[in-house]
Amino acid sequence: MRDFKIAEPRTVDEVAALLAEAAETTALIAGGTDLLDELKSGVAAAALVVDLRGVPGLAGVAREKDGLRIGAMTRVVDLAGDSGVARDYPSLKEAALSLATPQLRNVGTVGGNLCQRPRCWYYRDPEVVCRKKGGVNCYAYQGRNKYHAIFGGSGCFIVFPSDLAPALISLGATVTIGSARGDKVMPLEALYAGPAVDVTRETVLAKGQFLKSVLVPAPKAGQKAVYVKIKERGTWDFALVSAAVAGVLKDGAFTDISVVCGGVAPIPWRLKKAEDVLRGQPLTEALAVKAAEAALKDASPLRENGYKADLVTAALKQAVRAVTA
Ligand SMILES: Cc1cc2nc3c(=O)[nH]c(=O)nc-3n(C[C@H](O)[C@H](O)[C@H](O)COP(=O)(O)OP(=O)(O)OC[C@H]3O[C@@H](n4cnc5c(N)ncnc54)[C@H](O)[C@@H]3O)c2cc1C
Repeated sequence: MRDFKIAEPRTVDEVAALLAEAAETTALIAGGTDLLDELKSGVAAAALVVDLRGVPGLAGVAREKDGLRIGAMTRVVDLAGDSGVARDYPSLKEAALSLATPQLRNVGTVGGNLCQRPRCWYYRDPEVVCRKKGGVNCYAYQGRNKYHAIFGGSGCFIVFPSDLAPALISLGATVTIGSARGDKVMPLEALYAGPAVDVTRETVLAKGQFLKSVLVPAPKAGQKAVYVKIKERGTWDFALVSAAVAGVLKDGAFTDISVVCGGVAPIPWRLKKAEDVLRGQPLTEALAVKAAEAALKDASPLRENGYKADLVTAALKQAVRAVTA
């Protein structure tokens, strides 16, 4: 493990100033459940690590006029245990509870979850210099790709591993990005960009920017939302495929709907073609199958991951069953 300096800012402004001024490579640390692994294994290197844990005002879940404000430093366990989340956003609670283990949820934060790095075994191997680490090849493309992307993998086939991101995007969440130049608000969906934009990262966060909070809009009348996570193992695991489905249900049909999948693409993946099929039609499992078929026309499975197409169909069927139960 390479040496690094650690900075312990005490205000949000100090964080912004440190990130703006640092000449060396910097990394933010929140709970550290992902970053420390990366630093120890040598997959990531930082000369300066900026610790967010001593910064007041970045943690907590608060009701606001426009919805629910979740600080980036809110621990996953506190999100899952919040009574307002349970009442108004059950899919978010489900996603939080599905994530990792109780120990990791006790330490891991919402911001860290949304900005975590991929689990691709080639990326995580410190000996392998793949495209994501500045090399020229994606070794998954012709190598072992059972857990890789079936959508959006232009030259890099990682999948984005977050459980919270699909659930929050389906609920229409926005994020506040802090920096020395002031705050900026954008849809969470727009935080992510695939390998065609910049293969070395998964978000559009620029140098000096960091996540301050997430705002989930107040639930609409008739809103229904579910999170389905399909895993390989019964115990803790990342999603092979997950699906977050949210929308307004009226007379047995969605009037508006958002379908966002995890585990299938380098970023949380919106299935707009599935949304078009599901919108305005009486919800049945047969409709879910048609929706999956429409979305999967855009899929390009690799040698070992064609099974994920079936899991997308299964996840949409399960979501429709849960919504109509
Ligand atoms: C065994 C194991 C199982 C796991 N299972 C799951 C799972 O099932 N589902 C899942 O979604 N995740 C899983 N994770 C991933 C991860 O540990 C959690 O998602 C956790 O919530 C990450 O939060 P953290 O605060 O520990 O992040 P950290 O490790 O502190 O940070 C993660 C990344 O985000 C960046 N970052 C942190 N905070 C900010 C911020 N405010 N602004 C900008 N960048 C920031 C860091 O620089 C770093 O690159 C698992 C991890 C392990 C080790």
